[in-house]
Amino acid sequence: MRWWVNIILSVILIVLIIPTLIIKGFSSDEAGKGSISGDDEHGDEISITRRMSEPDVLMYDHSAKKVVRLPIEEYVVGAVAAEMPASFELEALKAQAVAARTLAIKKMRAFGGRGCEKHPQADICSKFNHCQAWISEQQMKNNWKDNYEANYEKIKKAVDETAGYIITYNNKPIEVFYHSTSNGRTADSGEAFSTSLPYYGVVDSPGEEESPRYRQTFTFSNAEFVKIFKKRYPNSKLSSSNLASQIKIKSYTESGRVAEVEVGGITVKGTDFRFLYGLNSTDFKFRFEKDKIKIDTTGFGHGVGMSQVGANYMAKQGHTYIDILKHYYKGIEVDIYR
Ligand SMILES: [Zn+2]
Repeated sequence: MRWWVNIILSVILIVLIIPTLIIKGFSSDEAGKGSISGDDEHGDEISITRRMSEPDVLMYDHSAKKVVRLPIEEYVVGAVAAEMPASFELEALKAQAVAARTLAIKKMRAFGGRGCEKHPQADICSKFNHCQAWISEQQMKNNWKDNYEANYEKIKKAVDETAGYIITYNNKPIEVFYHSTSNGRTADSGEAFSTSLPYYGVVDSPGEEESPRYRQTFTFSNAEFVKIFKKRYPNSKLSSSNLASQIKIKSYTESGRVAEVEVGGITVKGTDFRFLYGLNSTDFKFRFEKDKIKIDTTGFGHGVGMSQVGANYMAKQGHTYIDILKHYYKGIEVDIYR
């Protein structure tokens, strides 16, 4: 007479257990995509299993205008895609992947970092001139169109082949700076940011002359030049007649960039002058014409650390990503983060 009890119990078990298994299965699939936003309720449970091998980074995405949670290696793919042309050599992309990963690890609170100062909920933000540029797969598709798959695979390979590796100095992640194009030599960190760090210095960076941003000219009418200057320095006596007699480069840095320039009796740092006029770099020269001033720049960016164009040149010469990193960052190791 108890056979029906067994059947009822079996039915209850099937009804309760099978859906639970199905739900769990789908959840773990979702976790692999890593597109869970920071405030998602089930995000925490899912990421525990992933964190055992790979930590998550909380990133403020400027285009989505929200914080997203990403496994670190997936973050690095988006950062490399945003920061370096996919057409560059694989070893250059690998050097970029290690630099981008180092920058993220250094900022992550899970590793004792301070996070992004502008977005306190995030470890890092996706703005190139604040933390580090990053783009989503959708943005890659928009940018690359028919080349999307080939470019994505190439960048993914660069990230996979360096997975977990960062640049360390005294066993700690370094403060990473890199830039687009140098003027043939890199700048010391003290030149550009007034903080000297032992692993930065002036190193030769050959092979960059062909880069489109190696030399560029910025032209201003005399009146426009004066207007920009006076807006920032209202006490200046600068006048638009005979600018040549009122502008003088006073000193250069060790890497040949402008340290100080005197304009209308006011001494301005090369870095401040660069940002005031939106120049490519602090390696600049003046050409004075009748009613306009031409400023020729060499290189693109602050010049500190790895030059991306220089890294690509080194890769073309047969150097590995480790050679490249050890050339641009002195006394460092390329090591697994802990
Ligand atoms: Zn930021």
